Amino acid sequence: MKCDRCKQDITPGDEHENLGETLCEDCCMIALSPLKTCDPWAVHSAKNFEKLAGKKRSLTPIQSQMLKLLDEKGAMEPKQLLVELGSDLQLNDLEREFATLRHMEKVRGEKQENKVLWRLW
Ligand SMILES: [Zn+2]
Repeated sequence: MKCDRCKQDITPGDEHENLGETLCEDCCMIALSPLKTCDPWAVHSAKNFEKLAGKKRSLTPIQSQMLKLLDEKGAMEPKQLLVELGSDLQLNDLEREFATLRHMEKVRGEKQENKVLWRLW
């Protein structure tokens, strides 16, 4: 007896009937558990994949430096980050870089009392 899908020989007694097909163990499992789009694991791995893909997306030197500093020193205020960077950027330039990074879900702003801290996502 052969599997209707993969055409492998099936040991007698190991065959599975599914919707009129004779399937081997493996094909039967696949047939019975089709990948659903709402599968949380599928969504999860897709998200992880995006994150990995996002990491490979090239960052500007200033952006990777921002991430490095936030990673090493933790959350800090925009003006402190500006000092740490030691570059001659203006605060609003930095904010534009921050917005780009936030869009990639790499950093986010966090309100702490009356201050806004920037931190890794
Ligand atoms: Zn099969």
